[in-house]
Amino acid sequence: MKPELTIIIPVYNEADLLSGSLDAIRGKAASCAKDYAVLVIDDGSTDDTWRQIEEYREAHGDVAAIRLSRNFGKEHALCAGLELVESDAVIVMDADLQHPPELIPKMYRLWKDGGFDIVECVKRDRGKEPLMNRWGSRLFYYLLNRLSGYQLHGASDFKLLDGKVVQAWRAMPERNTFFRGMTAWIGFQRAAIEFEVPERNGGKSRWTFIGLLKLAIKAVLAFTSFPLRIVSVIGGLFLLGAVILGMQTLIRKLMGAAVTGFTTVILLQLIIGSIIMVSLGIIGEYIAAIYNETKGRPRYIVRERLNTREAEDRGHLT
Ligand code: UDP
Ligand code: MG
Repeated sequence: MKPELTIIIPVYNEADLLSGSLDAIRGKAASCAKDYAVLVIDDGSTDDTWRQIEEYREAHGDVAAIRLSRNFGKEHALCAGLELVESDAVIVMDADLQHPPELIPKMYRLWKDGGFDIVECVKRDRGKEPLMNRWGSRLFYYLLNRLSGYQLHGASDFKLLDGKVVQAWRAMPERNTFFRGMTAWIGFQRAAIEFEVPERNGGKSRWTFIGLLKLAIKAVLAFTSFPLRIVSVIGGLFLLGAVILGMQTLIRKLMGAAVTGFTTVILLQLIIGSIIMVSLGIIGEYIAAIYNETKGRPRYIVRERLNTREAEDRGHLT
């Protein structure tokens, strides 16, 4: 009874472009998969989006929808989709057509005929983006690669996952999810397709520089504890320095040649003080992350759920 392919689309306040995007996406899906569904996740939109989804679903039997109780953020909206979907394969993509629907048939073929379990679309070019974000993302991916060993540069959330990959993904219990990284960690047989990011087909991106910075910190926390180890390494180096300097100071004192050097004292105070602060900060970030995980709250809360009309007509309830 379950569809062969389900396309999961998280949306947040996309009323003005949603129906156009859904038309394009459904058209491409229909051209390859014989049985497909589209699952729209409304991430607590505050505009007209949900009403539009309902209307669109009335008119098109292949659209299902989930409405979250508030805005949980795209990562959590994706979680909702991946946990609640039932399908042989899923494709995850944005609603703003920055993930070109033209690639859907190619992804489908790679999965169906090529036997790949994960087909990921890699950004060849990041499209139009503020310079700050471009440099920021470069630095972020460089650091993440250095720290965790995963090469995610150019990675996007536009992916096809086989049903068994989705199962594997569901077995990861963490609250702080980073979809791109987690699908890299999972393994399986993978294929990559390059694409150029087109402009949004309306509205505007809600990512601010601060928002991206937060996502980057979340990703590092989720993927590597290397920064914690840096703290110990720096601590060790400073201990070594302290021993050497201490001996020197003592020897000079014993030889009666102690200098009245306040400069050294001030410099040491500043350096050690700031390193301790930064180290505590890093440890604090990890403790906060642990705290959030142990609270074990649900990653999202569903407010309303609509199955596809086709499934409803067959009396198939989920
Ligand atoms: N989105 C979401 N929840 C949010 C923010 C965004 O579900 O809190 C959706 C949004 O509707 C779109 C996708 O995530 O379908 C990507 O968002 P956006 O285009 O703003 O991000 P960008 O393309 O700039 O990375
Ligand atoms: Mg976008």
